[in-house]
Amino acid sequence: MATIGFIGLGNMGGPMAGNLVKAGHTVNGFDLSADAVDRFVAAGGNAVGSVTEAVKGAEAVVTMLPAGKHVRAVYLGEDGLLQAASGGTLFIDSSTIDVASARDVAAGAAQAGMAMVDAPVSGGTVGADAGTLTFMVGGPEGDYDRALPLLEIMGKTVVHAGGAGNGQAAKICNNMILGISMIGVGEAFVLAEKLGLDHQKLFDISSTASGQCWSLTTYCPVPGPVPTSPANRDYQAGFTAAMMLKDLKLAQEAAQSANAATPLGAQAMALYSLFVAAGHENVDFSGIIKMLRGHD
Ligand code: NAD
Repeated sequence: MATIGFIGLGNMGGPMAGNLVKAGHTVNGFDLSADAVDRFVAAGGNAVGSVTEAVKGAEAVVTMLPAGKHVRAVYLGEDGLLQAASGGTLFIDSSTIDVASARDVAAGAAQAGMAMVDAPVSGGTVGADAGTLTFMVGGPEGDYDRALPLLEIMGKTVVHAGGAGNGQAAKICNNMILGISMIGVGEAFVLAEKLGLDHQKLFDISSTASGQCWSLTTYCPVPGPVPTSPANRDYQAGFTAAMMLKDLKLAQEAAQSANAATPLGAQAMALYSLFVAAGHENVDFSGIIKMLRGHD
């Protein structure tokens, strides 16, 4: 069994680290929040006092932080991971961050003689608890092979998406599809209401016709047709509107730097900005149908 460092023990990182503990690894965890550390210790982890201590003696270090600036600081900063680690340490960054930061940090790791993959996830806190996350991984083949046994403890599906940053690229492309398609499905249900077409009838037809997509068949934004969708519990998240907005912003940032035209992605970002600005940041992202109806 290995010694693993874990930085960022929040809603996602806490249960992910817990699953590594359950699998028999020694996990040395660090977080700025005392509450997060307490929950980690209750799950059997060892609390340490700094990034430097978390990397000491560790074969691998997992990071699960809010955004690119935190990842840059924790890896590249003074007393950061790359300075403190011994050569050959494997780093796995599972935070959702901008592609440019992911590639910069990976280049810094390679230069320092470390192995590194970006490995953002989908599956939310439920998947993090159950160990059923999907990992989208970017990095060299050999580093991916080393990361795989740990990722398989925390997740169910692991896909190697290519070189450094491609895990982040896959994540934001997927979530751009999701944001756009949820708005499309929401608009169709609102139009159906105005035309006197029953929700269930539209669902029965479109779910087996060319309008079929995940936002309709798994996450239907009106109550009834898919009993497990958040619409049936007043849009309790699930995946919050704030998280969707974060990912759509990352997609737009990437589109600008890569000179890609993504006009529907831009529109989806604008609509989720309005929804979040109206105070719905913690509502499930499928709740945007209320705004499309013209309701608050
Ligand atoms: P969170 O805010 O609950 O956890 C982040 C943790 O990082 C916090 O506990 C914070 O104290 C800690 N932290 C910040 N800076 C630190 C530093 N310098 N050193 C040590 N700890 C530090 O967030 P989360 O929901 O766990 O999300 C983490 C990442 O996973 C984000 O990038 C998010 O976009 C992504 N993600 C979240 C979900 C979800 O459903 N929550 C789903 C998929 C992906």
